[in-house]
Amino acid sequence: MSPRVWEASGHLEAFTDPLVECLNCHQRFRADHLPGFHAPQSGHDGTETVDMQAAPTCPNCGQDRFTEPRNFHLMFKTFMGPVEDDASVVYLRPETAQAMFVDFPTVQQTSRKKLPFGIAQIGRSFRNEITPGNFIFRLREFEQMEMEYFVVPGTDEEWHEYWIAERLRWYTDLGIREENLRLREHGPDELAHYAKRSVDIEYRFPFLGWGELEGIANRTDYDLRRHEAASGVDLTYFDQERGKRYHPYVIEPAVGVDRAMLAFLIDAYRVEEAPSAKGGTEKRTVLALDRRLAPTKVAVLPLSRNEQLVPTAREVFDLLKPHWMCDYDDAGSIGRRYRRQDEVGTPLCVTVDFDTATDRAVTVRDRDTMAQERVPIERLVEHLRERL
Ligand code: ATP
Repeated sequence: MSPRVWEASGHLEAFTDPLVECLNCHQRFRADHLPGFHAPQSGHDGTETVDMQAAPTCPNCGQDRFTEPRNFHLMFKTFMGPVEDDASVVYLRPETAQAMFVDFPTVQQTSRKKLPFGIAQIGRSFRNEITPGNFIFRLREFEQMEMEYFVVPGTDEEWHEYWIAERLRWYTDLGIREENLRLREHGPDELAHYAKRSVDIEYRFPFLGWGELEGIANRTDYDLRRHEAASGVDLTYFDQERGKRYHPYVIEPAVGVDRAMLAFLIDAYRVEEAPSAKGGTEKRTVLALDRRLAPTKVAVLPLSRNEQLVPTAREVFDLLKPHWMCDYDDAGSIGRRYRRQDEVGTPLCVTVDFDTATDRAVTVRDRDTMAQERVPIERLVEHLRERL
């Protein structure tokens, strides 16, 4: 986007993290991630007590002397075109949000929407993070889904509550256990400059403690007013019922897709005792992903590589392929192949065996219960559609 958009939104001035350097080992840290420096932020255990007097120690070497915090800018900067001068400086977007404010009148007029309505967008964002890591928790290039929900001023607090509840439900509906989720209200000292109120949805990461998945902010009319002032373009909405023009207020849920996916993976992963083909039990690794999140929905498995089975198994695979993401696997024992699909979260396996040639039916096996059901090939697509 034009760098002037990032100037108007306040990012050029204020999109920074406080950086400190350990005077002993010279490692650099985000000051607000060192307990004792600041109020606890996302990624930290909110139950820890904060003693602003306590000297934080370096997570790397244990010493307690740091440089003074300085503001480190998080936006990646580059040059557009052949000339590297001030006039050609551009930035990689650190969030997807601003385009939806700038485009608000165009979207509203072309789609002929009345308030309340939302514009939602998914895409890459880039931040020059001081300390990336913790698997895919903090990346320098990541995926965001954001929505700007435009509402009549005065109804904003109500809509904020609505979206907090709705977004929380989205995670539990897709399989995250309630006890691993919590809401965290931003205190006055950490509230962003544009926000009237902000609430994070946090997940209990096993390697980190509570960490932010999503922020839901009441951004008021801050952004529309800022972009209007900077561009001179009218960003008001004409409310026909009330017969007046005004700037809508905005509720914004901002989700990190990679982070959410990490939480879904962690919550779905389990190792359990299952009956073994040899008798007794054995360990079974299951990724119990919700069927909507499972990358592969169905695996087609001939009982063996026998030439009587393979053509029918291929035929079944071709039948299902246009409908779902499917896998075909004929390598190794059937028990091992079931385990492999369990481990990558495939909800259903379809097995072609020696009876298939005579009864034109296959066995459908459920990942979670391991229950098996005989289904005629003729009804297979319908059967799978019901279960998926
Ligand atoms: P943090 O305090 O963890 O740096 P933030 O409060 O700056 O995050 P937002 O600007 O609110 O994050 O971004 C919305 C969402 O985008 C976050 O809740 C998170 O899920 C995701 N996100 C932000 N930064 C990163 C990153 N570096 N890597 C992966 N996801 C990220």
